[in-house]
Amino acid sequence: MIYDFIHLGSGPIMMLDALNKSNNSSQNILLIDKANELGGSWKNINLFGDNLVENAVHYLLPDSKGYSFLSKNFRIELENAERKFYAVNIFNLKLLVNVNNVFGKFIYLINGGDQAYPIKMKNFLNTLFKKSIVSQTKYPKEGMTHVLQRISETLLKSKVKVKLNENINKIIISENYITLKSKKNTYRTKKLILSHGFIPCEIIGKESIQISIEKKINPRPSLHIITKTKSKVNKKYFGFSQVLFPRGSLIKYVHQLSQFQNLSENKNQQIIVAALNHDLKQSKNNYYKIADLLEKYNCIPYSEKRSIDQFYWQEIFIYQMSTKELLKLSKISKNKISFLETECLNKGFGKYSDTWNFPENYFYN
Ligand SMILES: Cc1cc2nc3c(=O)[nH]c(=O)nc-3n(C[C@H](O)[C@H](O)[C@H](O)COP(=O)(O)OP(=O)(O)OC[C@H]3O[C@@H](n4cnc5c(N)ncnc54)[C@H](O)[C@@H]3O)c2cc1C
Repeated sequence: MIYDFIHLGSGPIMMLDALNKSNNSSQNILLIDKANELGGSWKNINLFGDNLVENAVHYLLPDSKGYSFLSKNFRIELENAERKFYAVNIFNLKLLVNVNNVFGKFIYLINGGDQAYPIKMKNFLNTLFKKSIVSQTKYPKEGMTHVLQRISETLLKSKVKVKLNENINKIIISENYITLKSKKNTYRTKKLILSHGFIPCEIIGKESIQISIEKKINPRPSLHIITKTKSKVNKKYFGFSQVLFPRGSLIKYVHQLSQFQNLSENKNQQIIVAALNHDLKQSKNNYYKIADLLEKYNCIPYSEKRSIDQFYWQEIFIYQMSTKELLKLSKISKNKISFLETECLNKGFGKYSDTWNFPENYFYN
């Protein structure tokens, strides 16, 4: 069988695009992922017993169309990133400074903002005196787990065929179709849709010549930590949404996940996820060093004895296919391979929501 479309990868934009195509046509669509869960970098994970949590530090960069797509289609409330802080160490005094006040903006900027970019005078002045990107960033009050759940469940009920645990290690471009191969299976499609999260494999073009693809692989280790206490966790530990650490720290930033769990303040547990320094290696010693640093900034409650099962380390790698390489594949394949712009989730929602056409309450039927 030859599919009309194969979407390779199950990031949110890929799932939504496959759903939209299947709703508005009778075409055969297959979505493949090597992972055992849908969602790509935004997948939900089951952690520390029965907690469904976000797998990483996430935020939705400003794009008004993207925000309105989310609010319109999913029953969520978006809020500004007001509880975002900068971790400051002055004379050994450890403080959290709100990034939205002038001092916070200043500290934030001399450290290069979210991505630790080199300082540019234009950005510096803009952010200091105007509304900063940070203060415009919005996020669902309830987190993104709900949105991912609704998209995944709707996809699984739809006409789109889904194949998980399928690592595509070879793609062959022929005159009339594209062939995808895994260890066990072969698939054919008239049109292959890729995204920036595609992990390049062997790609064979005309006259069996292998196409070279530039690979960029950036390590982004992360650590989830749960703190359990006998009584309710003190409210002050839920005070932040995100904390950014200075350049060179063990931690790049930390995100409060308990805020997305119902009535978290009343519970005797708190969950955070920390995005770590890229070079950091997994070790028990590092788990405890990170917890210690977070305790010092009051991001997590002090605990005399943390057991190893209160930590969850992920060796995350960002495989970033550049737009240039994706365009090259489109050209070589005479558009039988195309791609979606997925680098920034909310901007992607904004860009494609104009062409997607989902009926009202579609994700709740
Ligand atoms: C940990 C992490 C956190 C991020 N947080 C943010 C954020 O907060 N805000 C933001 O805007 N962006 C964030 N991003 C950027 C992210 O890349 C985009 O938001 C978006 O998820 C990219 O979508 P995608 O579908 O292209 O890739 P991904 O979401 O990475 O999904 C790619 C999927 O394709 C599958 N796949 C790839 N190659 C193959 C293959 N050869 N065979 C089979 N399956 C394959 C992978 O298993 C994966 O599930 C984050 C990325 C990471 C890794």
